[in-house]
Amino acid sequence: KGPDPDLVAIAERMATVKRKILVLSGKGGVGKSTFSAQLSFALAAMDFQVGLLDIDICGPSIPKMLGLEGQDIHQSNLGWSPVYVESNLGVMSIGFMLPNPDEAVIWRGPRKNGIIKQFLKDVYWGELDFLVVDAPPGTSDEHISIVQFLQGTGIDGAIIVTTPQQVSLIDVRKEVSFCKKVGVEVLGVVENMSGLCQPVTDFRFTRVTETGEQKDVTEWVIEYMREKAPEMLNLVACSEVFDSSSGGAAKMCKEMNVPFLGKVPLDPQLCKAAEEGRSCFADTKCGVSAPALQRIIEKL
Ligand code: ADP
Repeated sequence: KGPDPDLVAIAERMATVKRKILVLSGKGGVGKSTFSAQLSFALAAMDFQVGLLDIDICGPSIPKMLGLEGQDIHQSNLGWSPVYVESNLGVMSIGFMLPNPDEAVIWRGPRKNGIIKQFLKDVYWGELDFLVVDAPPGTSDEHISIVQFLQGTGIDGAIIVTTPQQVSLIDVRKEVSFCKKVGVEVLGVVENMSGLCQPVTDFRFTRVTETGEQKDVTEWVIEYMREKAPEMLNLVACSEVFDSSSGGAAKMCKEMNVPFLGKVPLDPQLCKAAEEGRSCFADTKCGVSAPALQRIIEKL
């Protein structure tokens, strides 16, 4: 019996890809797709040739986060063409193939595996410095498929995104264990939504009156600061939103002997950039989260 022709075709496609990085998370909603999107924007801004492959078949959010909603994939004699944000940032997602974004994708494992195989086999990426793969949360069919299909072509490693709470960290341990079992290196763990940080001038301040009403006193506070200590207007205020008394991701990484890449705060401007499909680096308003993301990306 000869080699599997599908795996041969995948290996041929991947021969022009220098580095393949998986982005994983134990739970949904921790910011994995946001990280994948911003990582791709950042790498493209550094002049790398970047491909972003979304294999979250049931909940593809990458098209929206890259500002590509409603776009279609085109077919050429070379294969399926990714949708390009810029000439050096191409994106592929099941989201581009759905006739209606509100429609649920109710597929069993084999069909999901089929489309992932097709993405790897049929998409013409050309020469890439990085292929970033945004996986669904957990360790399910999609994860086994991507690892299996890319085995032999070499996966450079996985980045695991988590939030600081224990409920999320417990699932990160499973993710690390999955990587160890399938022989994928853990490049590191990112602790996202690590405290809420924003410029003090973006806060609304209220005072509870004797009758229990909430009175907006923002103007008064800002005016007071401007008069008494104008340098205070440059402060960034941070608060721990989630319980991180367990020591958070950094401690867990030490215990599990995997690199800790850093913390990214909850930043309303990052959320806005993701909602609008923009890079948070190009926009000076993501002043709180962009430097944190940049430091993490430089470690890769
Ligand atoms: P996942 O891919 O893990 O399911 P998403 O990336 O879709 O999570 O993020 C869930 C929501 O949280 C999105 O609306 C996203 O914009 C927002 N979000 C993620 N990380 C941050 C952050 N650091 N600050 C503010 N909002 C964030």
